[in-house]
Amino acid sequence: MRLMCLDDDPRIEAVLGRFLKRFGHAVDFHVSVISFKAALASDLPELVLLDLDLGRENGIDVIHWLAETHPGMPVVLLSGHGDNLLDTARRIARSTGIQVLGAVSKTRMVKELPAILIKGVTAAWQQRGQDPQAGAAFTREDLARQIRSGGIVAHFQPIVSPADGQLRGAEVLVRLQLPNGQIISAAEFIPLAESSGLIDEVTENLFERLLGSREMLALSGVAFIAVNLSPLILQQERALVLVRRLVDGFAAICSVKIEMTESAATAYPDVLRSVAAQIHLMGASLAIDDFGIGYSSMRALAELPFDTLKIDLSFVSEMFASPKALRLLRAMISFGQALELQVVAEGVETEAQRQLLIEAGVDLAQGYLFGKPMTAEALANTFSTRRPS
Ligand code: C2E
Ligand code: MG
Ligand code: MG
Repeated sequence: MRLMCLDDDPRIEAVLGRFLKRFGHAVDFHVSVISFKAALASDLPELVLLDLDLGRENGIDVIHWLAETHPGMPVVLLSGHGDNLLDTARRIARSTGIQVLGAVSKTRMVKELPAILIKGVTAAWQQRGQDPQAGAAFTREDLARQIRSGGIVAHFQPIVSPADGQLRGAEVLVRLQLPNGQIISAAEFIPLAESSGLIDEVTENLFERLLGSREMLALSGVAFIAVNLSPLILQQERALVLVRRLVDGFAAICSVKIEMTESAATAYPDVLRSVAAQIHLMGASLAIDDFGIGYSSMRALAELPFDTLKIDLSFVSEMFASPKALRLLRAMISFGQALELQVVAEGVETEAQRQLLIEAGVDLAQGYLFGKPMTAEALANTFSTRRPS
């Protein structure tokens, strides 16, 4: 692979040059930002190694420049300033659209770079040839038409006990199924539904579908279903009518958990207090979702009757890339335990993540490792009919 390295310390060439050559990589070293930019203008590498500390100049400016001039360029960040700075720089770079393949402390460079570069070979210029319009958003009218023609469907993602993989519950994730069979995920249309006043209709339709899946769900053996409710719905008295319909409808099969995002819980505490209390009284439980990415949610946790804490999937996906994310993840698990909340880790994709989460003490886990969101029928087919004891 052809690499370009920007580091104001000329010794890096001696340390890395021969070492990377052994792995079959050719590196073009630059000690000044000017020569680096000039070289990039004439010869495009497949990956950039970027030191954050560049004497008078700094790597953050270079990140922004790269994002503007070479969007999608794969980059590995280097720093002698420790993991905290690397972590922040990685987030800055990602938010600008740069592909960050790794963020490596210089003390660990020789050990960690080879594996990252292998990843780089496959990722190199992935961005190229991608259609920026792919997945272009719907209009409000498209969405309204699809909802009214029965496009709203319920998918179910298994929530398991991480040690034995036994099914405990399932999160209901709404999908839009187009007439050609294409499935649109929640992340792609829920924001539009919320901003265009269609979220009520989406929710009503979803709940009808859910009630229609009762028999299949009973076969799967879930002990609970977890349903996401938009903050816009949770602010209305009608939320209680909807939740009551679900709790009664599922009474013979499983319990109902209502998930509200951390930001919803912090934005409207007054209205939510009463709605949350009544949801609780109806016999449904309450989860705080995407925990860790909002702010000042301590008050919400203190005031609302949550019994479940779902840690945002970004902490799980980053736990091996960022020592800070791992420390935060462990702290959040302990925090949930101290409040006697059931702690759920989302976004578990690998066996290594599963092992670490078991060791850290999470109660439940959810993620592609255990199953992607699927139809009620697939859930029933995949998991045994035996209810975990
Ligand atoms: P969420 O409640 O945090 O749901 C988890 C999201 O993470 C889902 O995306 C799920 O498909 C995805 N996910 C699960 N496991 C993994 C994994 O291992 N790796 C990765 N990369 N992703 C994973 P989805 O279905 O697109 O939902 C996105 C968000 O949309 C949800 O986040 C929730 O906030 C909202 N949403 C979903 N269904 C509904 C609904 O019925 N009503 C409302 N109001 N919002 C919903
Ligand atoms: Mg959720
Ligand atoms: Mg979540």
